[in-house]
Amino acid sequence: MAAGAVLIENVYVAPVAGPEIESGYIRIEGDRIAAVGPMTDLPGATDGATDGATDGATDGATDGAMGGAMGGATGGATDLTRIDGTGCLATPGLVNTHHHLYQWASQGLAQDATLFEWLVASYEVWAAMDAEVVRDAALAGLGHLALSGCTTSSDHHYLFPKGRGDLFAAGVEAARELGIRFHPARGSMDRGASRGGLPPDVVVERLDEILAATADAIDAHHDPSFSSKLRVAVAPCSPFSVSADLMTKAAELARDKGVRLHTHLAETLDEERLCLEQAGVRPVDYMEKLGWLGPDVWFAHTVHLSDSDIDRFAATGTGSAHCPSSNGRLGAGIARVSEMLRRGANVGLGVDGAASSELTTLSGEMRQALLFQRARYGPTALTARQALELATLGGARNLGRQDELGTLEPGKLADIALWRVDEPFASAVTDPVCALVFATRQPPLARLLAGGETLVEDGELRTVAHDAAGRAGARAHRRLLRLAEDRGVATTGRFRS
Ligand SMILES: [Zn+2]
Repeated sequence: MAAGAVLIENVYVAPVAGPEIESGYIRIEGDRIAAVGPMTDLPGATDGATDGATDGATDGATDGAMGGAMGGATGGATDLTRIDGTGCLATPGLVNTHHHLYQWASQGLAQDATLFEWLVASYEVWAAMDAEVVRDAALAGLGHLALSGCTTSSDHHYLFPKGRGDLFAAGVEAARELGIRFHPARGSMDRGASRGGLPPDVVVERLDEILAATADAIDAHHDPSFSSKLRVAVAPCSPFSVSADLMTKAAELARDKGVRLHTHLAETLDEERLCLEQAGVRPVDYMEKLGWLGPDVWFAHTVHLSDSDIDRFAATGTGSAHCPSSNGRLGAGIARVSEMLRRGANVGLGVDGAASSELTTLSGEMRQALLFQRARYGPTALTARQALELATLGGARNLGRQDELGTLEPGKLADIALWRVDEPFASAVTDPVCALVFATRQPPLARLLAGGETLVEDGELRTVAHDAAGRAGARAHRRLLRLAEDRGVATTGRFRS
């Protein structure tokens, strides 16, 4: 259901595209932004005269009940909800472009491991997951993201143990319940240890099964519309767990269906060594050979890139999801983000799976990205505004949705975060964007709208029971460990590598 007309007033607007507005308004009609401007351009903003401007503009504008239901209405009109944004910073809703939601259920394992050690310690635990674990983990993971200002998230799910229910649909169900825009990527692995891959054979699938299940997931769930809250991508897991044949056929399938491609790439030097050993080339060369560079592809991590790799990303429109907390946690390295931006390659942000980034917030990844780049390149390497752009427009580009998401402009979807920067501790910071990006603890989230609908209000989830969503994650964790133990997998003692 499209929301009615909403007017956010007296707010500091950081639209990402175009100049910032110190005291501005944002008008929403249906699920889109109708207008953005300074309060001085809003005639009769305080006397209700603006109500007439939206009268009859959309069908949703006549839905008077929505005004009361959303709260915060101060105007007398029945068809316009007014939100007082005094003391708030408005940004586009944040866009998360790399995640593994099921990992909410296995946080805290192999804390001091390299990527490969951590994967090997985790695979057999993950092999025990079922649809209930996935649904509960996704609800907690997506709820946690919404509480950090995120209105769109991808999810890369690549383990489908047999007889465990419809794991893909379980994630979709949680996202739908929450109302977040969801880009689930149907992942896969077909190269187990017996074929020189890293994962044990028990967690891999056959190539023909993978292609059929991926096509089914697209047919069942993908919505290509402008307002879409669900788009599916095709996402074999990584070069070290997937055959060249699967990579090639997955790209053919995605292009045939008109959906996007995603995988992990150039995350660690171990991966680079393995790729050289097995394929005779470095990871980006390998992917180029398989037809995997292009404007419909975004890779997770891309930490270890050469100058030529970066230039090829820029030339082909290939995107990257930068996941600084996860890269730090696994000691993978620091991606060359500021150089990538300078050379014209697109970069978005990702929190990565919770098992390698425990409780990481997307708002916090802006800060983490900024600090990593400055630690590597100096204090001008990445500004607060650039970090905000990574988390919004950069993410929207990764998902192919730059025309619909990522900035506060008329015609785009009304995905908006209102951050309370007048909160006593944050209010001493002169610049609201600085207060958001540099802060270790994010400013309180006054409101989060996705397509004009409220997902979060005053720091609480509104579309689902707030505490129950958190508890679902703890339940998923307990259930997964119990299921793993039932299969004879010891879960204690896995906290360290
Ligand atoms: Zn990942």
